[in-house]
Amino acid sequence: MKQLSLMIDLSRCIGCSTCIVACRNYHEIIDHTRAMPNGIPYYLRVENRERGTYPNVAVDSWVMPCQHCPEPKCLPSCPEGAIGKDAQTGIVRIDREVCNGCKTIPETLAAEKTKAAPCMAHCPTHINVQGYLGLAAKGKFPEALALIKEENPFPAVCGRVCYHPCETHCNRGEIDEAVSIRAVHRFLADLDGKAETRYVPPVRDRKAEKVAVIGSGPAGLTCAYYLAREGYGVTVYEKAPVIGGMLTRGIPAYRLPRDVIEGEIGAIRDLGVEMKTGVDFGKKITVAKLRKKRYRAFFFAVGTQVCKELGSEGEGLKGIHPAYEFLIAVNSGKPPVMGKRVAVIGGGNAAIDAARSARRLGAEEVFIAYRRSLEEMPAGEEEIREAEDEGIRIETLLYPARFIGEQGRVKAVEFIRMRLAEPDESGRKKPVPVPGTEFARPVDDVIVSIGQETDWSCLTPECACTITGTGTLRVDPVTLQSEDPDIFAGGDAVTGPRSVVEAIAAGKRAAVSIDRYLKGLDLRENRERDWTDTAKVQKEKYDPAKRAVMPLRNPKERSGTFDEVAAGLSAEAVMGEAARCQSCGCACIQSCPYGVIQYDGGRGYSHKCDLCFERIHVGDLPVCAETCLTDAITFGEKELVRRKVEDMGKEVLKDLTRESILYVR
Ligand SMILES: Cc1cc2nc3c(=O)[nH]c(=O)nc-3n(C[C@H](O)[C@H](O)[C@H](O)COP(=O)(O)OP(=O)(O)OC[C@H]3O[C@@H](n4cnc5c(N)ncnc54)[C@H](O)[C@@H]3O)c2cc1C
Repeated sequence: MKQLSLMIDLSRCIGCSTCIVACRNYHEIIDHTRAMPNGIPYYLRVENRERGTYPNVAVDSWVMPCQHCPEPKCLPSCPEGAIGKDAQTGIVRIDREVCNGCKTIPETLAAEKTKAAPCMAHCPTHINVQGYLGLAAKGKFPEALALIKEENPFPAVCGRVCYHPCETHCNRGEIDEAVSIRAVHRFLADLDGKAETRYVPPVRDRKAEKVAVIGSGPAGLTCAYYLAREGYGVTVYEKAPVIGGMLTRGIPAYRLPRDVIEGEIGAIRDLGVEMKTGVDFGKKITVAKLRKKRYRAFFFAVGTQVCKELGSEGEGLKGIHPAYEFLIAVNSGKPPVMGKRVAVIGGGNAAIDAARSARRLGAEEVFIAYRRSLEEMPAGEEEIREAEDEGIRIETLLYPARFIGEQGRVKAVEFIRMRLAEPDESGRKKPVPVPGTEFARPVDDVIVSIGQETDWSCLTPECACTITGTGTLRVDPVTLQSEDPDIFAGGDAVTGPRSVVEAIAAGKRAAVSIDRYLKGLDLRENRERDWTDTAKVQKEKYDPAKRAVMPLRNPKERSGTFDEVAAGLSAEAVMGEAARCQSCGCACIQSCPYGVIQYDGGRGYSHKCDLCFERIHVGDLPVCAETCLTDAITFGEKELVRRKVEDMGKEVLKDLTRESILYVR
C-alpha cells in the first residue's frame, strides 16, 4: 500500500495560519466555536511544546493533523461503519453521509462529544465501552468483542468478576439505572469461548529480546500477552502448580468457571508465551541467572499470597483456616471437611467467597463477622446480596477477641462488640472495642480473611529494588519501573490487594514500558492523559427502558454446587441493553490516541484530516500544502518525504515508522 505523508518544516513556518484557514474553508468546518473543548476550531491545529495548544503558530510549534495509523483504532470503533481506510493510500476517512455523531441529540452540547465517556475514563484498562456498546446494539458482536480485546485480554473473566467502575460512573445512572455493561461484556466474551474459533491477535515482527514474567495472575499474563504481540520471547514463571493466580486459586468456580479462565489463558499461550509452573522464583531460578541467559527485562507480578494473622489468642487451634489457603484447597478440589457451624472473620471479597464456599461444602450455619459497619464493607454489593440470599448472615461491629479450644481444636469464638470512632489513615471510621460486651459463640470451623501481603523472597540480592513501608515494591507510578532499570513490577504486589481489572491495567502499562525500555525510547513520554474531563448527558433526552437484569440460579439450588450462579443474557436482551447507552462521547473520538478527531456540533458528525483525499486523487496537493506561503509543507509518498528530511539533515519530531505526518525542525 502506498503510504502518503505530510512534512512540516517548522524552521520555515512563520506562524501566519494560512494553512489552517485554507483547511477550514476547504472542508467547510463551520461550527468551529463548538468543535473543540478549548474553542480551537481546526483539526489542523497547532501545538506548542511548552504552552499547550494555540491557534497561532509560534516558532517552536507544530501542527497536529491525523496520523493515519497503520492499525487505526477509530476504524473498528464506529458502530455505523462510517470510517474506512483507503486501500491505495492508507488514508483513514470518515464518511460524513454515514456518520451520525453517535446518536447525537441535536441540542446536546458539542463540547460534550469531545470529552471522554465516563465509562471509558473510569475503566482502569480504558476500554472503549461506548464503542463496543454501539456495535453490540446493532448486533455486530464479533466487532464489539475485537474492540474490547484491544484493551483487555480477559474479557470473559472481567465480564464476570470485574467490580465494573464503568457502571458506577455511567451517566445513564443519573437518569434511571446504569447500563448493565458487565453483562453485555460477558455475553460478547462468551461468543469466543471455543478454542477452535477463538480470536488470537497477530504477532508483530519477532524480536530477539527475551522477557521474564514472574507470577501468572492477571497482571503477569496481561504483560506477557502484550509483549508477545509485540514479538518478544516471553517466559512466565509461576510458583503454584496452576496458571492464573487468584483467578484460578482464589475466586471460586461458581463465580468464575475454570473453563472460562483456561480459554483466555489458552489464547495467551497461542501467542507463543512459554508458561512454567512449580517454579519458586528466587530459589533455583533468579534474576542473576536469567540476566546471564540474555533475558533483558523482568516483570514481577507476584501478588499478595501471604495471609495476615489476627494475633488473637488461640489462633493456632485446629479448625481455624486462613481464607486464601482454604480457597486454594477448595479450588484444587481438595477442600477440608467443614463442620456445621462456620464463622468467617473479615469483610472483603475473599471473606464472602470463603463463606459461600463453606456453605457449598455442607456447612449449615455460616456467618460473617465484620468489625466495621455494612457501609464500610469492601466486598461488592452484588456478592453481599447473593451471599445473604444463600442464607449467610452478616454480623457487623464484631471482633474475635479470642478463640476457645478443646483438645487442640476450636469450639467457640469469644467476640467483642465494636463501635466506630473517627476515621483512621485509610479514611474509614476506626473500629474500637466496647469493654464489657464480650460473648462466646460456639463454632466448628473459623475462616480468617483479614488481608494478604507479599513474600518478596523472589528478589535476590542482585536486584537493586526497594520495598516500601507497606510491603509493596517501590516503582515509578507511570512506568512501573523499579530502581533497578530492567526490573518492573505491578498488580497487587505494588498496590496491595485490589482487583482483577487494576492488575490487568498494570500488566498493560508495564508491557508498554518494557517495550520502550528495550527499544531505548523515553518511558514516560505521552503516557499520561487527563481522564477527569468526562462528558455529561442531557437528562431529559432519552428513551425510557428498563435495565436488563442478570438472571441468577435459585439460591437453594445453587448453594449446594460450585456451578456458575449467573446465567447470562440472551442476544436480544444484550442488543436492547446496549441500546440504552446514551453515547456520551463519539466512539471514534474515544478511541483516537492522538486526539485528532473532532465533532461538528452543528452538523452532527465527526471529522478529521483526510489529507484532502478528493484533491490528491485528481493530482492536486492537500490544501494546506498548496497555500503555505513559505513552502514549509511538503506532501508525497512517505519514503520520498523521509528521504527529503534526511537530505535536509533535520531533526524529526515524530516516529517515522508509525506515522504518516512528520514534523521537522
Ligand atoms: C478470594 C478472592 C476473591 C476475589 N474476587 C475478586 C473479584 O470478584 N473481582 C476483582 O476484581 N478482584 C477480586 N479479587 C482480587 C483479584 O483476584 C486480585 O486483585 C488480582 O488477582 C491480582 O492480580 P496479580 O496478577 O497482581 O496477582 P495474583 O493474581 O495474586 O497472581 C500472583 C501470582 O504470582 C505467583 N507467585 C508469587 N510468588 C512467586 C514466586 N516467587 N515465583 C513464581 N510465582 C510467584 C503466585 O503464585 C500467583 O499465581 C479477589 C481476590 C481473592 C483472594
